[in-house]
Amino acid sequence: MTMLPKAAPGARKLGLVIDLDTCVGCHACAVSCKEWNGGGEAGALPDYDKYGTNPDGVWFNRVHSYETESQGCSRTVNLPRSCLHCEDALCVTVCPTGASYKRAEDGIVLIDTDICIGCKLCSWACPYGAREFDEDAGVMRKCTLCVDRIYDQSLPEAEREPACVASCPARARHFGDLADPQSGVSRLVAERGGTDLLADFGYRPTNKYLPPRRASIPVPPAPTPEPRGGGIGSALLNLLDKALSR
Ligand code: SF4
Ligand code: SF4
Ligand code: SF4
Repeated sequence: MTMLPKAAPGARKLGLVIDLDTCVGCHACAVSCKEWNGGGEAGALPDYDKYGTNPDGVWFNRVHSYETESQGCSRTVNLPRSCLHCEDALCVTVCPTGASYKRAEDGIVLIDTDICIGCKLCSWACPYGAREFDEDAGVMRKCTLCVDRIYDQSLPEAEREPACVASCPARARHFGDLADPQSGVSRLVAERGGTDLLADFGYRPTNKYLPPRRASIPVPPAPTPEPRGGGIGSALLNLLDKALSR
């Protein structure tokens, strides 16, 4: 068993805030994460059977899309999913070797692959499916919150943010200190009612999700279908159809 660190006074709680209202499901975050963390033939994140019938691989960040209904209209909600850097991380406490650990100073959950024995207990413990087993190296891997980027003093300060945040074209991903109530991410969570994913499990994720907003434009009632071949609209559509099918 591995102990979680005691919360030090003034410690930061670094994490992501993801806006489900503006995420368009483009997967740019997932791809840039894979790129930054060394994907590809010689990189740290392997791909298996990538040109075959059952392609698979190790990803730290995956995006799932769901169809739902809101105010009488269908709506697609995209849910990016990576490690949530939980405060009460069971993936840490189940680890028999201390390979899975949480940093006291900023709350980031990491894996020391030098002492990971690949037992997979942590992946069974994580209810978010955020851990991915590297079959090539025989060790567990996960989102690092780009710890090698956010503290890199050789980068301009504006670029010291996770690769997935920097690449998001919809600005749906935000990074910051959730222990500081005045930080941009904390204010976003307060203003937009940011929530925990699967809060009932009680692992107290650091990352928060901003729920989709209700549509602000009134949705008109569905038009009554015109009889086939009737009305000026149908006539125009028939003409257009004929023109386009030539
Ligand atoms: S890059 Fe941004 S918009 Fe695209 S899937 Fe990721 S979070 Fe959503
Ligand atoms: S797979 Fe590695 S990190 Fe996970 S519980 Fe086992 S030893 Fe710890
Ligand atoms: S913070 Fe870094 S490692 Fe984590 S999902 Fe984003 S790009 Fe990947």
